[in-house]
Amino acid sequence: MLLLMLEKNMPIDCVFYADTGMEFPELEAHMAKLDSLLCQERGIHIITLRHPHGFERLMFDNPLQQKRAIARRFAMGQPVTGYGWPGMKVRWCTSKLKTELIQEATNRLKKEPDVLHYIGIAADEARRCKDDPRHRYPLMEWGVTETQALQICYSRGFDFGGLYEIYHRASCWCCPLQRIGELRKLRNHHPELWARLLEMDNRARAMFGPGPLGQFKQNWSVARLEERFAREETEKD
Ligand code: SF4
Repeated sequence: MLLLMLEKNMPIDCVFYADTGMEFPELEAHMAKLDSLLCQERGIHIITLRHPHGFERLMFDNPLQQKRAIARRFAMGQPVTGYGWPGMKVRWCTSKLKTELIQEATNRLKKEPDVLHYIGIAADEARRCKDDPRHRYPLMEWGVTETQALQICYSRGFDFGGLYEIYHRASCWCCPLQRIGELRKLRNHHPELWARLLEMDNRARAMFGPGPLGQFKQNWSVARLEERFAREETEKD
């Protein structure tokens, strides 16, 4: 969306990027490249939004604030710090590390008259759009689908370091909501991140036990996935 907005000479006053701290190194490099183009074309930099505590501190160490949540943890004999692994029903990471930060930043700007917030939702993701007169969805308006958007990036020399040639989605590498096939690829293509994930999960299980907070995926810890993937490799040989 940003590349096309630049090409179409649309006004751009600021660009926000919410960094969860768990992005692939290739994505970080992509953002740096995009930032230099933006600076060269418009003389501004991407504004990176980060939660002051970051993913791992929120997951393990941050003291809970709500009395009810603290009481529930006490009753279950669980620590009163950390949100544990995110799950389908409790996606604290999306709200704390992305939406709340972006909302806070854009709400400040929305006090200005005539401010528009452009959001890069593709034409085939319409269900994600909100009905807000200050929101614009240029990719939707131009009928650009997710696949076409990726091709547009490629044709302008932005290839995300090849991430999309490997993975279906290039969001947080530690995401417990990703498919097992994606985790198998993570182990093969980013073994250093896989090792970090293994450590995180061992810590979560030791700290929170077998319930949802310490459970990476239903029926699967990262250690069990490691055994499974290693066994698959041996069977292949
Ligand atoms: S990609 Fe996964 S881990 Fe990252 S913010 Fe989204 S749900 Fe959370």
